[in-house]
Amino acid sequence: MDAASVTTPSARLESRARERFRRRGKSMQDRMGRTIDYLRISITDRCNLRCRYCMPGEGICWRPMEEILTYEEITEFCRIASGLGITKVKITGGEPLVRRGCPDLIRALKDIPGIRQVTMTTNGVLLSEYLRELLDAGLDAVNISLDSLRPDVYEQITRRAELGQVLKGLDLAVESGLPVKINTVLQKGVNDTEWEELAGLAEKRPVDVRFIELMPIGDGKEETGISNLFLLEKMKEKFGSLYEDRTRHGNGPARYVRMPGYLGSIGLISAMHGKFCSDCNRIRLTSTGEIKPCLCYGRSIPVRELLRSGDHEGLRSLLKQAVWEKPAEHCFTEVENITESRRMTEIGG
Ligand code: SAM
Ligand code: SF4
Repeated sequence: MDAASVTTPSARLESRARERFRRRGKSMQDRMGRTIDYLRISITDRCNLRCRYCMPGEGICWRPMEEILTYEEITEFCRIASGLGITKVKITGGEPLVRRGCPDLIRALKDIPGIRQVTMTTNGVLLSEYLRELLDAGLDAVNISLDSLRPDVYEQITRRAELGQVLKGLDLAVESGLPVKINTVLQKGVNDTEWEELAGLAEKRPVDVRFIELMPIGDGKEETGISNLFLLEKMKEKFGSLYEDRTRHGNGPARYVRMPGYLGSIGLISAMHGKFCSDCNRIRLTSTGEIKPCLCYGRSIPVRELLRSGDHEGLRSLLKQAVWEKPAEHCFTEVENITESRRMTEIGG
C-alpha cells in the first residue's frame, strides 16, 4: 500500500516510520551511478502453464525442493537487502501462486521495515482463488500475464485451457481495487494481430496493458517477437492521436501512452528495440538463492549457503559487490554475447 492510500492512524504512523527509515541514507549504487532499490524474487521454478516462449511442454527437470530457498530464508535475505537500500520487492517465478503459502511470504515481507512495496507477477490462473488472502497479506499490486483473449490461441501459447480462470482473476482483482497491470508478449503469426483487443482491456478497466518485446532467453530464442516500434506505428495508424503518459506507473522500464477515451494506459517494454538500461534499478534473486545482476548474463552470485549458515556480514558484502558489478547494459541484440542459458522460470522473469 502506498502512503497516499494509507487510512488508519496506526497505518499512517507506520508508513511515516518506513519513509524515515528509507531516507536514513541507505542506498546501493552500482559503478554506473544507478541506485538499485528494486528486488525481483523468483520463489519457484514450477508453473501450471507451459508458455512456448518460456518452457518446454514436457521433460522439465525441476530443482529439488532442498535447493529452493525457504520462505524464512527469502525473508531473511530481504531484511538484509532492505538494510542496504532495497525498498521494493516483486514476487515472481515460475508461477508464484503454485507455491503453497505465497500470501504468508507476502505478509512477512510487508512487515520488514524499509520495504515499502511488495507486488507480484502471476499468470492469473490461481488469482481468483488466492485474491482474498493476497489482499489481506497486504499485496500492493499485481501484474497478470495474458497473451491472448481467444481461447484457442491462449491454449496454443500456454498449452493449457485456462483463459476463463485468468479473466475471472483479472476482473476480481480490478473490482477489489488492487492496482493491476497486464503483461503481453506478442509473437509474429501467433497473437500479433490481437494487439488491439488486448490493448482494449484498458478501455473500460483502470488497468495498464504492457507489451513486452520477446527476449531471446530460454525458449524465447526459438520464437519470433514483434518490435514495439512497429506496434507503436500500428497504434498511431489506428488511433491517430496518442499522447505520452509521463506519470509514474511503477518500478519498471515501460514507456506509457494513452489512447483517447481509455481508462488505463498502454505500456511498451522495449527490451530489444529501446534500451532502457541507464534507468535500470533492479537485481534478481533466483529461487535457488543466487543474486542475478542482469537478465542477459549468466553471472550470478550464490548466497544460499551464506543464508543457511547465518553469515549475514558475508551476505551483505556479496550483495553490495553484486550491485557494484552490475553490467552497464544488456546484450539481447547481440545474441552471441548472451551468456545466460537458463530459462526465465529459473531466473525469475
Ligand atoms: N508465471 C508468472 C507470469 O507468467 O507472469 C511469472 C513468471 S514469468 C517468467 C514473468 C513474465 O516473463 C511473463 O510476463 C512472461 O510473459 C515473461 N517472459 C517469459 N519469457 C519471456 C521471454 N523470452 N521474453 C519476454 N518475456 C518473457
Ligand atoms: Fe509459466 Fe509465466 Fe513461464 Fe508462462 S511465462 S510458462 S506462466 S512462468
